[in-house]
Amino acid sequence: MTPKSFFSHLECPKCGQTYDPDQPHQLCRCGSPLLARYDLVKAAAALSRHELARREPTLWRYRELLPVRDEANIVTLGEGMTPILPLATLGERLGLRQLFVKDEGILPTGTFKARGAAVGVSRAKELGIDVLAMPTNGNAGGAWALYAARAGIEAYIVMPEGAPDITKVEVAAAGAHLHLVRGLISDAGKIVGRAVARHKWYDASTLKEPYRIEGKKTMGLEIAEQFGWEVPDVILYPTGGGVGIIGIYKALRELQELGWIGEKLPRLVAVQASGCAPIVKAWEEKKKESAFWEQSSTVAFGINVPKALGDFLVLEAVYETGGCTVAVDDEEILHAQRQLAAVEGVYLCPEGAATFAAVKKLSAQKWIHPDDKVLLLNTGAGLKYPDSFRIDAPVLDPDEEIWPS
Ligand SMILES: *Cc1c(COP(=O)(O)O)cnc(C)c1O
Ligand SMILES: [Zn+2]
Repeated sequence: MTPKSFFSHLECPKCGQTYDPDQPHQLCRCGSPLLARYDLVKAAAALSRHELARREPTLWRYRELLPVRDEANIVTLGEGMTPILPLATLGERLGLRQLFVKDEGILPTGTFKARGAAVGVSRAKELGIDVLAMPTNGNAGGAWALYAARAGIEAYIVMPEGAPDITKVEVAAAGAHLHLVRGLISDAGKIVGRAVARHKWYDASTLKEPYRIEGKKTMGLEIAEQFGWEVPDVILYPTGGGVGIIGIYKALRELQELGWIGEKLPRLVAVQASGCAPIVKAWEEKKKESAFWEQSSTVAFGINVPKALGDFLVLEAVYETGGCTVAVDDEEILHAQRQLAAVEGVYLCPEGAATFAAVKKLSAQKWIHPDDKVLLLNTGAGLKYPDSFRIDAPVLDPDEEIWPS
């Protein structure tokens, strides 16, 4: 039997309004992002964990829980099922017996943005979209430009002038229209907002279309499946727009409804850079929404988001799971990145390394216990940030002795 999607409708998490799942939609009338809902009772009857185990190792193994209806619309570069690696040595140094990293750096385009792009672009194709536009800090733009190229969709990408060059190269290589802005992702968002209003393009901004999050949700599905349906105690996620952490939380709730995992959820930790920590500030003040973070800056470019549209959903995921938020500074991030590469051989992006810097703080504070099963999310490859390290190597003449006796 071919797997089918149990996507039933779109729903507003703020006002409860529902929308036709088979028409293009952006935000709810009330301004909130929309979320995809599924008929999980029927899905549970149609699919078992046993059956799932036999499927291909890509995120499309979760077809029943994804919004794409017709297989013919799937736009894929082979994304999904990234490895979960133990960090035994660094874990031991911190007194943690079970420290792991899920390495999203091996995905197509080098970051987990491939998950959102795969499902988002597939769904855009299914809905008959032919032009889309989006603001980005770089990685999402690279991923969406390439997946859009594969789908035959025209893409307009706007990113800060200071975004990593390699992401500009990806967009250019994909033949998308690239524009740079003297400013932040929020400024890029304003430009895209004006353009989509004028030209009636599809707005693929974070959470302004409801399907990118469905792709990112598959991180949560994989985590549960890879740990044999025994979820970790703590998951740390580098949080910018927050779609990843909202997606993981959504996945865990759906798995509970399917009856595939138990009552206990991992404590979700939103990690931010101290140069851009609006969600940490809101959590410390016990608020439900964040305020715009002025003059934000950090080496972890993907989490430089001064105000996230889905901030209330990130905070809900943190509060509901008994999680917390942590800010780490750039020096701690770069030190963590170096340590992970030199001790464990994993070369993470700065955003991913930030989660290890956060683990150090939380275990020192005893918020993380020695027996907790702790999972870091590495959202991208260190290779996408070639400027993180200064190269300091001697240059030799061909006949020069390196180590004179
Ligand atoms: C986009 C991005 C993030 C932040 O992801 P959100 O899900 O938007 O919070 C983290 N790390 C990297 C490498 C990214 O590109
Ligand atoms: Zn609403």
